[in-house]
Amino acid sequence: MSLVTRFAPSPTGYLHVGGARTALYSWLYAKKRGGTFILRIEDTDLERSNQASVDAILEGMQWLGLAHDDGPYYQTQRFDLYKEVVAQLLAEGKAYKCFCTVEEVDAMREAQMAAGEKPKYNGMWRDRTDHPADKPFVIRFKNPQQGVVVIDDMIKGRIEIANSELDDLIIARSDGTPTYNLTVVVDDWKMGITHVIRGDDHVNNTPRQMNILAALGAEIPKYAHVPMILGDDGKRLSKRHGAVGVMQYRDNGFLPEALINYLVRLGWSHGDQEIFSKDELIELFDLADCNRAPSAFNTEKLLWLNQHYMKTLPPARVASELQWHLAHQQLDTRTGPAIEDVISVQAERVKTLVELVEVSRYFYEDFSEFEENAAKKHLRPVAAEPLALVKEKLTALGEWQLDAIHHAINAAAEQLGVGMGKVGMPMRVAVTGGGNSPALDQTLLLIGRERTLARITMALEFISKRAEAS
Ligand code: GLU
Repeated sequence: MSLVTRFAPSPTGYLHVGGARTALYSWLYAKKRGGTFILRIEDTDLERSNQASVDAILEGMQWLGLAHDDGPYYQTQRFDLYKEVVAQLLAEGKAYKCFCTVEEVDAMREAQMAAGEKPKYNGMWRDRTDHPADKPFVIRFKNPQQGVVVIDDMIKGRIEIANSELDDLIIARSDGTPTYNLTVVVDDWKMGITHVIRGDDHVNNTPRQMNILAALGAEIPKYAHVPMILGDDGKRLSKRHGAVGVMQYRDNGFLPEALINYLVRLGWSHGDQEIFSKDELIELFDLADCNRAPSAFNTEKLLWLNQHYMKTLPPARVASELQWHLAHQQLDTRTGPAIEDVISVQAERVKTLVELVEVSRYFYEDFSEFEENAAKKHLRPVAAEPLALVKEKLTALGEWQLDAIHHAINAAAEQLGVGMGKVGMPMRVAVTGGGNSPALDQTLLLIGRERTLARITMALEFISKRAEAS
């Protein structure tokens, strides 16, 4: 029998990192076993669902590289099927019409609570046949009243729920529309889902869903309920903790490779290994190795992973992600070095792509002012001579090439009988505008000869104006 998993988000907002992790687990589980991963959009809550959220989910899944093998299915396009199944359950006596008014149900609950009992529907229409002709009704599932439901959860272990705890669930509202638990059951059944991997906020629905599946004579899938993600304060991860939407991580400068690696480890481990390629994950991931306890989000670790991937992925791959940020931060890279080359020298100096763009502007944009503190410290009159000499040597270079640049700077320091610092720092401030950059020779190589020389001239003018002013 082939293995089928699904990710079934409700499109009521962006793709949350918790949802993305569940999707990743479902995807990995199917991939390793040659199974099928289905994407199903659970959009039956018409008030809360919207197209923008559907698009955000699809975009997030695509950005993470979690391609579905089948779908996306939309539950709103499957109402006929749900109605057929409800009619079938009704015809077979496995569901029944309930004519209770809202007031009656409320009164029932209040009485139970007053008596110290757990409020639930008391089954008053379960066996009645004296149906009124033209009163509205809902349809309820006839939940078994005896026995226990056993979930052999692949993560949480064995969970038992007595049927006496479960009341007769509404499966169709008075307007005929199916309810959440019914649509999930019908889809899991009709789509042949073999493994339901989802957040543990659904664990209370599982016994009810298993009972309906059993009533339909459907194969019951295996269940794996993934513990939730907590914020750094031990509370469920939410907006209060910062970014929770997957695309927000893209916006904040993370690579999908880093987020995938981060999310998979948040709730799963393989020895003490931290870095996993997607292929390795497909090979190694197993639900049996997932944690039972919730995990806490740790931004420092995500930043560390992000830097790791910026440094180790092929620069062309990082460049393709960087394009979005360049456009977003309005940095025009048509004149200047290849961005792959900038990535190679900057990746170890920053943690995100946003920072990478920030610290790389001088490769592509000219500036009209030097950073105040750096200039105060390094563009002083004593720097004029070394700058002028380096300029002379760079002007005379035949080829603009790393070794040659390196030697030109060294030769100037030697000739003046000063240490590299006396030449290097003024040069760095002159050509980048500030005091931080990769190795000077590499920086100059990428900035290019023309810009380098023009900027040294600008620094020399700055120094002479400063001398005049004092
Ligand atoms: N649509 C549900 C949600 O977004 C998931 C249902 C399921 O996975 O069974 O929470």
